[in-house]
Amino acid sequence: MTIKGDLLITAQTLTQFCDNYLQADAFKDYSPNGLQVDGGRPIARIVTGVTACEALIDAAIEAGADAIMVHHGYFWKGEDETITGTKGRRIGKLMQHGISLIAYHLPLDAHPTLGNNAMLAQAFGLTITGALYPHESHPVGNIATCTPQTADDLKATIEKALQRTPLHIASHYDVEGKPNHEPKLIERVGICTGGAQDMIEQAAIMQCDAYISGEISERTTHSARELGVDYFACGHHATERGGIQALGELVATHFGLPVTFIDIDNPA
Ligand SMILES: [Zn+2]
Repeated sequence: MTIKGDLLITAQTLTQFCDNYLQADAFKDYSPNGLQVDGGRPIARIVTGVTACEALIDAAIEAGADAIMVHHGYFWKGEDETITGTKGRRIGKLMQHGISLIAYHLPLDAHPTLGNNAMLAQAFGLTITGALYPHESHPVGNIATCTPQTADDLKATIEKALQRTPLHIASHYDVEGKPNHEPKLIERVGICTGGAQDMIEQAAIMQCDAYISGEISERTTHSARELGVDYFACGHHATERGGIQALGELVATHFGLPVTFIDIDNPA
């Protein structure tokens, strides 16, 4: 049993703290933020990860965790509502082992200091200056600036920071799709982690030289070329490791609990 002062740390206490810190109520999201599965026991040990996949649950069981905190939880809009298949097996394991699942999606992308975008910008040496959609009060995509540099320089920085080679689509190209002349310098960058490749259109409207996200679709290549915006697909998983780690560190400090980040490798 875990006591902080005379406060028992329950899944509800932990979630309430994170809800407040991330202003979770301010977001219209595609999945519920906060406590998704109540394991029913006090929290003494936490494992964090990007996605609540079965491998992460197995690792959390092995680590003796009472709660798992993730960026990608369950119950996404439009998915099968039944607890069957992979979701059924995952939730079954959580319940069987009394492990709570706490998930934050958009609030963890958007948080100005520990969000995925903020952490990624910091890792790439970019300074966030505003929102990709200027009217959003809690922007999930950002505009950032950097010292003027070539696309190759930015690509090298990304590769070093993520230990992974990004897929770069140059906006200057010949008919074979190869860059055909000295590319422009990149100074103004749109950034949104995960599967936000289609926001490249907005990056162009906001006069960005380049746009950084996680995934790429077939259509993204043509958008980048036609919009004149260099695109860097850096991996959905790779771009969303920062936020949950930072949240875990915050929780560890605030509650004085051991929190371990477990990275289940994912090339996508
Ligand atoms: Zn994501």
